[in-house]
Amino acid sequence: MDFKMTADYHTHTIYSDGVGTIEENVARAVELGLKTIGISDHGFNHVKNGVKREKVAEMRAEIERLRKVYPQIEILLGIEANLVNLNGELDMKPEDFANFDYCIFGIHYFTYGKGVKDSFKFNMHNLLLKPTKKYIEKVTDSYIKAIEKYPVKVVVHPNYVVPVNTKRLADACAKKGVLIEFNGKRTTFTPQQAQELIDSKAKFIIGSDAHSPSRIAECSVPKEFIEKYNIPLDRIVNIEVTEQNK
Ligand SMILES: [Zn+2]
Ligand SMILES: [Zn+2]
Repeated sequence: MDFKMTADYHTHTIYSDGVGTIEENVARAVELGLKTIGISDHGFNHVKNGVKREKVAEMRAEIERLRKVYPQIEILLGIEANLVNLNGELDMKPEDFANFDYCIFGIHYFTYGKGVKDSFKFNMHNLLLKPTKKYIEKVTDSYIKAIEKYPVKVVVHPNYVVPVNTKRLADACAKKGVLIEFNGKRTTFTPQQAQELIDSKAKFIIGSDAHSPSRIAECSVPKEFIEKYNIPLDRIVNIEVTEQNK
């Protein structure tokens, strides 16, 4: 059975560390026949690549302009927020959410937290220390707190930077209707985690995490994972089956 993506909510542009403009991403998505393209540049507290708050209005204006030029596709402005500490806090102020059509979030290296101590502890731990079982549970708690606290759509690339307790994360996502991402570059679930995802009630989404227009809707890595572990395709919200089993 083969499938293709109908929507890509995880793409980067020159507003963070992508190489394409918003329009180049949109044009590529149109070429591919996607129904929806989301722009989701890195959140504000990413040390090197975060979107500048003062640029958001410019991004929004560009999205509005492109909606008129490309009426055949839904164009959304999202953000890939950062989980910045163990308290479930994102680099989003309450008023930021109104400026985006959706918010996806995950953990990244080199992000600012609330204060120097907070940021230093979290970043250094993630960078330098081998994650203990206890730390993995703490990080999972933090993901869950964020899911409960903020209006988020997707948890991106779980296991990246620090492994997570997939069972607990998936249960929390199912309860809140938050999607778990199979990331275009980093789908790194263990066999046990894959089984926990299947056994949960969570739904999934594929995100290319494209940093260039040519990689939009590129999903060979998640596809391999999905096939290997027989992930039920009807639980993945942004695909269309293109070929039935013969
Ligand atoms: Zn990311
Ligand atoms: Zn990303």
